[in-house]
Amino acid sequence: MIRDITCIACPLGCEIKVEDTEKGYLITGYTCLRGKDYALQEVTDPRRILTTTVAVEGGVLPLLPVKTDKAIPKDMIFKCMEEINKIKVKAPISLGDVILENILNTGANLVACRNLDVRK
Ligand code: SF4
Repeated sequence: MIRDITCIACPLGCEIKVEDTEKGYLITGYTCLRGKDYALQEVTDPRRILTTTVAVEGGVLPLLPVKTDKAIPKDMIFKCMEEINKIKVKAPISLGDVILENILNTGANLVACRNLDVRK
């Protein structure tokens, strides 16, 4: 089977083909090794940075943008969202604050993407 993968490691967006052969994966179409690594990871262990928001108590905004500080397994995204949806953080919050540590043992922390002051 051949999978077509668009590399997202840089804006060039190379079209990479990954063929599952008896001798292993045959990867073609990449321009650099980052693309080859990305394509291999995409077929063996696809991962994504999770970006979303969490509810804020007492802040100038009702929602805080957050993201994981590293890519997590793609098949864990919905389970992580269930955990994240239970969270309500209290203002003030600083950019980079860890909102949830080692989310579901993925090794990734959920961190704040902005400062958020207290509502006056
Ligand atoms: S293979 Fe290399 S050059 Fe092509 S999109 Fe990926 S990172 Fe960019």
